[in-house]
Amino acid sequence: MRSILFFGVLIGYIYCQETFVGDQVLEIIPTNEEQVKNLRLLETEAHLQLDFWKPLTTLGEKVHVRIPFFRLQAVKIFLEYHEIPYSIMIEDVQVLLDKENEEMFFPRKRESSGSFNFGAYHTLEEIFQEMDSLAEQYPALVSKLQIGYSFENRPMNVLKFSTGGNKPAIWLDAGIHAREWVTQATALWTANQIASDYGKDPSITALLDKMDIFLLPVTNPDGYVFSYTTNRMWRKTRSKVPGNICVGVDPNRNWDAGFGGPGASDNRCSDSYHGPSANSEVEVKSIVDFIKNHGNIKAFITLHSYSQLLMFPYGYKCTRTADYDELNGVAQKAAESLTSLYGTKYKVGPICSVIYQASGGSIDWSYDYGIKYSFAFELRDTGRYGFLLPTNQIVPTAEETWKGLKTIMEHVRDHPY
Ligand SMILES: [Zn+2]
Repeated sequence: MRSILFFGVLIGYIYCQETFVGDQVLEIIPTNEEQVKNLRLLETEAHLQLDFWKPLTTLGEKVHVRIPFFRLQAVKIFLEYHEIPYSIMIEDVQVLLDKENEEMFFPRKRESSGSFNFGAYHTLEEIFQEMDSLAEQYPALVSKLQIGYSFENRPMNVLKFSTGGNKPAIWLDAGIHAREWVTQATALWTANQIASDYGKDPSITALLDKMDIFLLPVTNPDGYVFSYTTNRMWRKTRSKVPGNICVGVDPNRNWDAGFGGPGASDNRCSDSYHGPSANSEVEVKSIVDFIKNHGNIKAFITLHSYSQLLMFPYGYKCTRTADYDELNGVAQKAAESLTSLYGTKYKVGPICSVIYQASGGSIDWSYDYGIKYSFAFELRDTGRYGFLLPTNQIVPTAEETWKGLKTIMEHVRDHPY
């Protein structure tokens, strides 16, 4: 135990990781408009360095906010003064981070058996290696392609699952927000599942006989590496503009769909900064170009965490799409099937009504581009661990998500358009 702690500290030291000692995550549920107003005020206080894990939306909706240790007292006094009820969701963020760091040393031991440990969080290099080995193991089905490079020149590696030729395709991506680690891990588990199910599971076999699947497990590789080595709470890209102190753009506010509208920030330092222009982030631009060049993508599915939601367009406006009934029906069915495995409850609906109005999001762009089956998942949990989901929940999360994904993909397969 002691040696593990020692290594944890050592790794922290090597990487100069930012610490979150004493930071707390509070859950706040405003119960009247006055409280909502005061919380909005709190939100605008940049000097407090509040990190909204679940932003303020409306009356009665939960807000989750990480508060740096040295601002805790001030914020609690503010909440108490305005009689805004709150509870402590995470007592000390660093305690969870230390635990996560310790767990990172176990998977490598188990890997001595030769098989990849899907129940662990991995470095970008390890993820890329596993993608390569899947392509080697299933050469008739899986190939790797590079659709571009990140701002810091890391490859955007995509796995293509295809039984030959260029068929109508399903796009699946994860990790556009760096710190949502269960999504990259789930995507990798899913890649392995698709590959091993072909020829065994009649549903996946029928799917791949008709369609291709493209899977991008790490959409924001720079952000992922930064969240691994330096700041576990990093969400954005790592793009830099000369003369600006704040780094990065929220890549899920950067798509050309209601760009710069409500639910995106024009403050460069904000975690939801939309960027100087639509597609300014090379990671977003690479996907847009790939999809346009392909020309026959029939479904666009993206994985986020956390909150346990299954959503469809729109987010940048609150009007219903022409396909509302069909998308809602498919999503409801997918959520039911997901829940059937471990009882994990999901909420279903358009982004605008299920979370909040947010512009520049990927599935709004894909839908408006003509990809009818556009869906976004928010995986586990609902806040007990938030972005710091323990590793023993990775595989169960991936397994249940697969149930939901399969339901959507079967519908896409059986409803060509
Ligand atoms: Zn996200």
